Amino acid sequence: MAKIAIYPGSFDPITNGHLDIIKRIKFLFDKIVIAVNDNPLKSFLFTASERVEMIKEVLNDSSGIEVESFRGLLVRYAEKRGARFIVRGLRALSDFEYEFQMDLMNRKLNPQIETVYLMTRQSYSYLSSSIIKEIIKLGGDTPSLIPDSVKKRLQEKFN
Ligand code: ADP
Repeated sequence: MAKIAIYPGSFDPITNGHLDIIKRIKFLFDKIVIAVNDNPLKSFLFTASERVEMIKEVLNDSSGIEVESFRGLLVRYAEKRGARFIVRGLRALSDFEYEFQMDLMNRKLNPQIETVYLMTRQSYSYLSSSIIKEIIKLGGDTPSLIPDSVKKRLQEKFN
């Protein structure tokens, strides 16, 4: 049976921290579905289709990788996609609390689906989409933290 993993997130926008996780999980699974959260109750800077588009633009080798947006419960989406794994990245201790809660809840909803956690790379440990948005909005630079195409999109958005 093919090992399919969902890598869910806001990706508002995608950063090199996300890309590093994607690069590392490519070798662990047969197929990866990058699932862009389109929760209507959350407010995003970019629309779901913009976020999907930006991810597609920056994937060097997209073999075995799909990108799409989803709404509703993540486990239901994983079931629909035939995925038995969910991937999440861990940075600071604060990520752990939230992820632990989500894991316990998702396990209740479907005990067959396993969530796999990857530790961030040191250079990306304080990198988040929010801090990137903040810096670009204030006219700062973010060398080696986001792809150039993403930086361009952010600058366009804030101008
Ligand atoms: P969410 O709103 O679901 O947390 P994000 O786009 O912020 O969406 O993050 C998606 C996933 O990527 C999460 O598991 C998050 O921990 C992980 N992630 C985000 N930034 C990094 C990073 N710099 N290093 C490692 N993992 C990261």
